[in-house]
Amino acid sequence: MRQIAMYGKGGIGKSTTTQNLTATLADMGHSIMQIGCDPKADSTRMLMGGVRQPTVLDTLREVGAENVELDEILHTGFGGIRCVEAGGPEPGVGCAGRGVITAIKLLEALGAYDEDPDFVFYDVLGDVVCGGFAMPMREGYAKEIYIVASGEMMALYAANNICKGIVKFAEEGEIRLGGIICNSRQVENERALMEAFAERIGSKLIHFVPRDNIVQQAEIRKKTVIEYDPTCAQADEYRALARNILENDLFVIPEPITMDELEGMMTEFGVVD
Ligand code: ADP
Ligand code: MG
Repeated sequence: MRQIAMYGKGGIGKSTTTQNLTATLADMGHSIMQIGCDPKADSTRMLMGGVRQPTVLDTLREVGAENVELDEILHTGFGGIRCVEAGGPEPGVGCAGRGVITAIKLLEALGAYDEDPDFVFYDVLGDVVCGGFAMPMREGYAKEIYIVASGEMMALYAANNICKGIVKFAEEGEIRLGGIICNSRQVENERALMEAFAERIGSKLIHFVPRDNIVQQAEIRKKTVIEYDPTCAQADEYRALARNILENDLFVIPEPITMDELEGMMTEFGVVD
C-alpha cells in the first residue's frame, strides 16, 4: 500500500489532477482509495459521475458516531476507486481541517485500510500546512508527497510553504517529497521555471501537465478526461504522470527557499519584470 498526499494551493488543480491520475492507475489494474481532504468536498466528483456524496462530517452529524457504517462514507466510483470526502465544519465555525482528522480515524476504525488497496491518495488543501491539513503527513499515513503548482507566484509561494511543513514532519518520520507536478497556467517560461524551482528545493519536476480545454469539456459531462476521451492528448499526459509516479525513486527532504530567492527566480525567468 503506497499512501500518497497531493498538496497545493486552492484552485491549482489538485482534484482534477488526482482524479485523472487515480482513474489512470485504476485503468492499469491498481486498486485505489481516494480521500478528499478539502472542505470543498469535490475531490472525487468526476469519479462519481458528478454525484456529490455525503461527507464524513455530514454523515457523522446525521447518524452519530456509534451508528455510522463504512458504506455510508465510502462509495465506489470509476474503475472501482473507493471514494471518500472528509468534508468540513460550517464556514466560520472551528478548524477547517478537523474533517480530515475525523475522516481518517473513522476510516481506520471501520476497516477501510484493511482492504489493503495498492494506493491511498489524499487530496489535501494546503496553502500552509497547518491543523488538520497536516494530518495525513503528521501522523505518518502519507509518506510520499507531491505538490501541485504552476509558474504563478502564489502557487510557488504555497509550494515553498508546503515544503517547510514537510521538513518539519520529515525530521520525526519517514515522509518525503516525491516531486512537483506542474499544472500549467501557461505562464512565460513555465516549464523552465518549474524545473529550476524543483531542482532548487532538491526535488524534481515529476510531470508538466498542460492546460487543455478538454478538462472543462469532460467536467461538463461529469467525467475525468480518462473516462471522457481516453484517446486525447491530455489523457496521455495523465498516463505519463502516472508512469512517472510509478517509477519514481527520488524521495527527498526538501530545502525550502527564501522569499527573496523565490522573487529572484520569477525575475530570472521573466515571469515578472
Ligand atoms: P483544486 O482541487 O486544487 O482546488 P481543481 O482541481 O478543482 O483545483 O481545479 C480547478 C479548476 O481548474 C477545475 O474546475 C478545472 O476546470 C480547471 N483545471 C484544472 N486543471 C486543468 C488543466 N490541466 N487544464 C484545464 N483546466 C484545468
Ligand atoms: Mg480540490
